[in-house]
Amino acid sequence: MVLRPDFPGEKQMNTRPIVGQSQLVKMMDSIIASGRVAHAYLFTGPFGAGKKTLSLLFAQALLCEGEGEKPCYSCRSCKQIDSNNHPDIYHLVKEEDKTRIIVDQIRDLRERIRVKPYQSELRIVFIHRAQEMTVQAQNALLKTLEEPPSHTKFFLLADIANELLPTIISRCQIFKVNSLSTPDTAKILMDRLDILREEASFFATIACGIPGKALMLASNEDFKQKRDRLIEKLGSKRPNDLLDLVPLFTEDRDLAFDLFDVLVFWFRDLLVAKETGRTDKIINMDKLSYLGRQTKAFTSRALQDNIELVEKSRRAIEGYSNFQLTIENMLLAFTGGAN
Ligand SMILES: [Zn+2]
Repeated sequence: MVLRPDFPGEKQMNTRPIVGQSQLVKMMDSIIASGRVAHAYLFTGPFGAGKKTLSLLFAQALLCEGEGEKPCYSCRSCKQIDSNNHPDIYHLVKEEDKTRIIVDQIRDLRERIRVKPYQSELRIVFIHRAQEMTVQAQNALLKTLEEPPSHTKFFLLADIANELLPTIISRCQIFKVNSLSTPDTAKILMDRLDILREEASFFATIACGIPGKALMLASNEDFKQKRDRLIEKLGSKRPNDLLDLVPLFTEDRDLAFDLFDVLVFWFRDLLVAKETGRTDKIINMDKLSYLGRQTKAFTSRALQDNIELVEKSRRAIEGYSNFQLTIENMLLAFTGGAN
């Protein structure tokens, strides 16, 4: 399988080079070379890990009409996939007003795949967030997987595979899409965003090597501004300065959990800088000037306490403690760390 060279200015997910998944790409290559294509594949791995990117690349290679290495990125089929316009690719997702993928959708799908593909030899049905299928829907799908039409292949994408029936999983060949190394994730960020290496490396770390999450955080201006303000003010000994930070957390509660990570990585960096005097193990490489200033404001003991306090507050909020009060208490307690 050939990976398309990086054309500047183009932003489609499925045409970008795949970074750091060489094992999976190799597996796909050997399937294509042998021509032994299974009836169903399950792409599983955390949200944002790259299941969609990889499965689309595989589909593109399978349906490619070009000669030589696949996908060729230039034949009719490859171009149709790039523009999300291929007549033999179906995307099944949960309907907007529903909480699950329901059995009627699978019944409707079974009707639609009775007929031959429109243009290619194969039709590919993507079932996105397959874990959202009701048990009834899964049982209906199972019937199809047990007697699959030869011209239709199923690509199931699931964040959490164990919410699928074991009988469904056993009918699928599995592609496990794992998180990437920090440098590989940082490379994806640098390829796609206007971002410096130091900053890319921070976002790759905070997203635990999940490219989708790293991209989402690194392109979220609100998050970036909040991180800047947080880091700027943490060295302050004035309670009012710290209380000014409360709205950063309370305005957007989903983002608050990512801000907890910002705090933990920041205190951890301060501790590393203080204890070792070195910068090569620092995560917040783009914030070295603040780091230098703040190492003097905290004792090592206080930094360890602060990290514990952040984790304790995170658990308290997950356990439905008063959100605002927990944040206020946490921020005020950081002053206790100042010399
Ligand atoms: Zn092609």
